[in-house]
Amino acid sequence: MTMRKPTAERPLLLIPGPTEVAPEVAAAATRAMIGHRGPEISELLQRTLPRVGRMLGFSSSVYPLGCSATGAMEGAVRNAAPGPFLHLVCGAFSRRWSEIRAACGLPGDDLEVEWGQAILPDQVEEALQGGSYAAVTLVHNETSTGVMNPLEQIAEVVRRNGNPLLFVDTVSSMAAVEMKLDEWDVDVCLAGVQKAWALPPGLTLCAVSERARRASETAPGKGFYFDWQVHEKSLLKWQTPSTPPISLLHQLDEALDRIDQEGSGARYRRHRDMQARVMEWASGRFEPFAQEGYRSMTVSALRSGSADLANLLSRMRARGYVVGNGYGKTKGEVFRIGHMGEWTLPALDAALSAMDEELSKASG
Ligand code: PLP
Repeated sequence: MTMRKPTAERPLLLIPGPTEVAPEVAAAATRAMIGHRGPEISELLQRTLPRVGRMLGFSSSVYPLGCSATGAMEGAVRNAAPGPFLHLVCGAFSRRWSEIRAACGLPGDDLEVEWGQAILPDQVEEALQGGSYAAVTLVHNETSTGVMNPLEQIAEVVRRNGNPLLFVDTVSSMAAVEMKLDEWDVDVCLAGVQKAWALPPGLTLCAVSERARRASETAPGKGFYFDWQVHEKSLLKWQTPSTPPISLLHQLDEALDRIDQEGSGARYRRHRDMQARVMEWASGRFEPFAQEGYRSMTVSALRSGSADLANLLSRMRARGYVVGNGYGKTKGEVFRIGHMGEWTLPALDAALSAMDEELSKASG
């Protein structure tokens, strides 16, 4: 894999998604259009979705939803009505689950930790012992803070404490970190494809366990577009209830081939190596925002300290790199480097050297 050279006109995205799309994947969007009720779409779905399931260590259904991840989150909440829900909140996207639930008029509680901290299994255990919940929501990789929560250990605690459904947003970790959803007994795992899958946005992959789907049979007011019963009925015929984002499915097909060529183990290693490289570079320059031991493999959040962040970001953009600002309340104090999807160590090194040059110009 090699990345193209950055230019000011066509900068490389060093933000935590959307991210660079490989030329082969971009080209797959121009494959001949196919009808959404003919045999070709069934072949495409049958070729791609089971491969996604295998990558996730998941043997139930994976629904290809024509929406961004937020839509799939709302769908999951509606399918688990009437609740109540327990939301594990450690940043802006884990808070979103709670906001969606409140907007749907359903009951729930938040277990909230300070931004930059991880959700720890003992905290989850205590919260579960204090209430009775239909579903727990978690963001595996909190993109706003650069924290990667201990999913496997949290799942184990959830199973031992009332056994509610476990809904996990893996938007910025799926396809970058190994998942063993059956083994960990995760009920819902969803991700938009514009992060580590490195596709254009518009498709969300939503893995739903049989247990979660059965529980949704009686959910009141769950609507139609996201109803898992409706999706399952279509998937049994290798179809979707409404017109899917066909070009994105072609691109997913191509992306899966690329992942096979690289090997999923090598892909996960590459993400670990990139994270280690950014942390090594940051040491002595910038303090990591996320708690040690729980730092993300795909997005490194760093405190900008005495650096003039707005100036640094605009100089980097002029050199062909879009670096992420902080998100929400950390904007202006934290910056985020997204190292996912197509990024490689040599391309990342070049970006970090450019950043060093800009930092020394600013201090000189
Ligand atoms: N969850 C996480 C962890 C995210 O990083 C994002 C977006 O960055 C979302 C949810 C929302 O995704 P979308 O904007 O595709 O709906």
